[in-house]
Amino acid sequence: MKSTNAENTDSMNTDESPCPSINSSLSHCAPVASRDLLTSCVHCGFCLEVCPTYQLSGDENNSPRGRLRLWREEAEGRLAEDPWTVNYTQDCVGCLACESACPANVPYGEILEHTRHSHVATGRTRVKPLLRLAAALSARPAFFNMAMFPVRALRRLGILPHRFLFGGSPALAVSTAGYAKQLMEKHRPTGPRVALLTGCLMESVYREINFATVRVLIANNVQVFVPGNQTCCGAMQEHLGLDQVDRLRAQNRDAFSAMDVDAVVSNSSGCGLAMKKTLAGQKPVRDVLDFLGELDLVPRQRRDDGTRVYVDLPCHLVHGQKLDGIPSKVLDATGYRWELAPQARDCCGSGGVYNLQQPENAREILARKSSFLNGAAGEPVILATSNHVCMMQWNSAKSGDLVRRPFQVRHVIQLLDE
Ligand code: SF4
Ligand code: SF4
Repeated sequence: MKSTNAENTDSMNTDESPCPSINSSLSHCAPVASRDLLTSCVHCGFCLEVCPTYQLSGDENNSPRGRLRLWREEAEGRLAEDPWTVNYTQDCVGCLACESACPANVPYGEILEHTRHSHVATGRTRVKPLLRLAAALSARPAFFNMAMFPVRALRRLGILPHRFLFGGSPALAVSTAGYAKQLMEKHRPTGPRVALLTGCLMESVYREINFATVRVLIANNVQVFVPGNQTCCGAMQEHLGLDQVDRLRAQNRDAFSAMDVDAVVSNSSGCGLAMKKTLAGQKPVRDVLDFLGELDLVPRQRRDDGTRVYVDLPCHLVHGQKLDGIPSKVLDATGYRWELAPQARDCCGSGGVYNLQQPENAREILARKSSFLNGAAGEPVILATSNHVCMMQWNSAKSGDLVRRPFQVRHVIQLLDE
């Protein structure tokens, strides 16, 4: 496993940090994390075996316990600021499997978020210019939608120029907001009221999943509203340690918090987790499949054509949002014969933009997880999940020699919609 990173500064930063790194307010400069957070680890090691980077490298420093120790020793001045600490921080996928395994409830994700922000703010990590550009574009949804028009057009034509792009037929001009308004006027549902987060990449590239979400909700008598002033959830910026997170969260609080709805729903588990942080204490944020699991769902017709669906559970659904998974009632309602993919709760390596930052590590993680598809029963085979970024990562297994048989990648909401 590769654990050095060309993005990082290659020399030790000996300048005194402008901010003290422990016991500082989390809202100024670039704090790492408070002393309480950094000392909450009891070193039991229960998290090691669930950590994909530890599994690959066998290196304690590349485990949750090891990273926490490095960050704490730096913060307490017992370890000089070292580029290796930055490398090990960058190697973390951010899957949060360690949080689920931790008996001491160490808030690893929160500590990681502050540490990454600190490393970027103090110049210890340099974010690749292309990723900075992508983050800046995604923070301007209207512009991003226009810029991605050619990508939507290519997908409609069935031309997929990159291994991360999976097949689909997104609308070119009609937005999800416009589509939801049309359907609401036509069907006039009377049930619970939800506001839909449309997302940046989801809306600009994979819009057909948003459309399917609207159709399924309305078909189940849910009233769907799509605020026009919403923006990107900020998950990507958070993962990269960029400053824009607070601005994006503030804009989404303005867009969603005053709405007269029962819940804000998201069809992407990573975005849903980000929105839970954004609207904490203001509005319930629900994963759309979890929300649907509480309704009397309209089931699809049973399909007995040999198709087999393997369901993968996104990390940010089960470890981030702490949900048990995708309700079996929802999966049954698709009409497909389904089963959980082997290691369904393990990371696929996508990790937000981890597969762009650390492509070799991400590929190794995916290779381990996807190999079962080569011998999986069923024809055709569908890999279904509930996060578009995971769908992109799974789709990339079709290239190279990871998975040598054809398979489709679908969002579970699309299976309900068919
Ligand atoms: S977030 Fe995932 S990759 Fe990072 S330390 Fe925890 S288990 Fe390992
Ligand atoms: S499981 Fe929690 S307490 Fe135990 S070593 Fe890992 S982070 Fe520390």
